[in-house]
Amino acid sequence: MNKIKLLSEDTITKIAAGEIIENPASIIKELVENSIDANSKKIIIEIKNNGKDLIKVTDDGDGFERSDLSIAFKRHTTSKISSIEELDTALSLGFRGEALSSIASVSDVKIITKTKDDLIGTYAEVDNNGNIINREEIVTNKGTTIFSENLFRDIPVREKYLDGKNYEIQKTNDIINRLALSHLDISMEYIKDGRTQLKTDRDNSLINNIYAVLGRDVSENLIFIEKEFSEFKIKGFISNNLLYRSNRNSQYIFVNNRSISDKEISKAVEKEYYSVIPLNRYPVFLLYIEIDGKYLDINIHPKKDIIKFTNIDEIKTSISELIKEELSGKYKIHSFESKNTGSDKKTIFDIKSKDIKKNDIENYFKEESRYNRDKNIYIDKKRQLINFQDLTEDYNKDSLDKLNDDIDREVDLKLDDLDNETFLDESEEYKILKNGYRYIGQLFLQYVLLEDNVEKALYILDQHAAHERINYERLVYDYNNSNIPTQNLLQGYIFELTRAEYEQLMTIKDRLLDVGIEIEEFGDSSIIIRTIPAYFTDINPERLIREILDSEEIKENINDIDPYMLMKKACKASIKSGDFISISDVHKLINMLRECEMPYTCPHGRPTLIKITKYELDREFFRIQQ
Ligand code: ADP
Ligand code: MG
Repeated sequence: MNKIKLLSEDTITKIAAGEIIENPASIIKELVENSIDANSKKIIIEIKNNGKDLIKVTDDGDGFERSDLSIAFKRHTTSKISSIEELDTALSLGFRGEALSSIASVSDVKIITKTKDDLIGTYAEVDNNGNIINREEIVTNKGTTIFSENLFRDIPVREKYLDGKNYEIQKTNDIINRLALSHLDISMEYIKDGRTQLKTDRDNSLINNIYAVLGRDVSENLIFIEKEFSEFKIKGFISNNLLYRSNRNSQYIFVNNRSISDKEISKAVEKEYYSVIPLNRYPVFLLYIEIDGKYLDINIHPKKDIIKFTNIDEIKTSISELIKEELSGKYKIHSFESKNTGSDKKTIFDIKSKDIKKNDIENYFKEESRYNRDKNIYIDKKRQLINFQDLTEDYNKDSLDKLNDDIDREVDLKLDDLDNETFLDESEEYKILKNGYRYIGQLFLQYVLLEDNVEKALYILDQHAAHERINYERLVYDYNNSNIPTQNLLQGYIFELTRAEYEQLMTIKDRLLDVGIEIEEFGDSSIIIRTIPAYFTDINPERLIREILDSEEIKENINDIDPYMLMKKACKASIKSGDFISISDVHKLINMLRECEMPYTCPHGRPTLIKITKYELDREFFRIQQ
């Protein structure tokens, strides 16, 4: 083992700095928060080479007193508190006096500053220990500009870590969004490599600034909320039923204009959206909570993005009530709860997406592949023998029995040289609508009702889930054969994205092309969609891109994105909701579903088909005593 040594002062400082300064995003956050604390009305953030070469924050705030400058970059220097007692109630954003010294220790810092009383401004350079090494007078406006250059140059491990990481860029974009949204009363501009990415104006309305930061899709679907409670005030925007995301990244909580994250509050909001938006989706919201510092404990986290409320229960209930009020009247949702307390055994029809993990589906796929090969032979045979269209007109048990017998015989012959065990053991369960069916009708333009008079059961088919499954398997098939037929969107389809989304999309551009989706950049943060897979009729191309951008996988591992994931998402968007379906389309749909490898769930694991037996109905109506 090595001998224990005392670390040098320099090393200690750098380690401490690492706790606050993880990446360019954290520097931006600290500098902008300082500008906010200095009463600025306008803040400009400029970065070059993702912050590695330059991070520059300019404000029009109070400026540094000349005498303060020599100690401002030393550790534990702050003008905001002077004792431990003040820590609890401090409402300014920074109060630990660590940021500037940390930034100076990991990058080359320069500053230009002038107070309103100074006749002339000051320019200074700071060394890595926080000492002013060069100082000059300079003509400048009131306010402060801080330059942080050559980030992590002396810390190779971290420098390497920064290189080209998309994750870092997203972090930066997210921090800037949160800063801009936290103070809609301050004009903020973000310039990256010379180009303006975002600009809010304090004279704009709230919603216009939200539009500037989060884009049209979000701002158009927000509902304004505002209410004063005894201990706090809440104001903000919540999504309607059309706006949701597949993660919590678009949830913004500000407490006294400080961006925080709070799972409990998020969950309280999400609870009100249960059944308003789809399962496993998250509402978008911006909540501005104004609350007396005596209810807060801010000091629990060095990065200050988690705080503790002493009255959290009160806050949660109030938020729930407020949201319920706003959403009710617009939605009347009745949930049907079956009194059926029968067996716990899950059948394939009971699968709900939340019970399925990705692996389960993949495993299911694998286990099923042999069986499916067999089944396809079966289905081929069956198709030759039965004309399903005729069956619906003339449905009776005798003719069906006969047909089924014929099929079984044929299939037995075919299967002679296969290992029959698997097939015969499992086949009964997996033959979809094996007895044929009578088409009853369509429900809510969404569900197809089918009667199986042999098994005495009602089948409810989710036509969109079924369609999604069919599209997905076609696409996978064509992808595996490197032959996805595409259609050109004649004029192209153009739409706007946030800068972060745009970057993400450009990263996966080639992957999208592999699955038949061709996009091109179109101006600063807009894209144009050129082609989509040919079988996607009636598609809304913007939804297609949204599905992909909102996925968890993109956020987590954009550089190694799974093409099957892309195809699943694409297929999800390929289906329009609320379509009338003709009888012949019903037959087509069912025939195509029968040919699917996995006909029982859509690619995302929701069921395509639900079965309710006559027995179950009888029991619900108390025709059968339990
Ligand atoms: P803290 O914000 O926790 O006080 P910092 O290291 O971030 O610690 O800043 C140290 C001090 O430098 C602040 O307390 C403040 O007095 C001064 N300061 C920092 N940034 C600015 C700015 N943009 N304008 C005016 N004063 C600033
Ligand atoms: Mg600070």
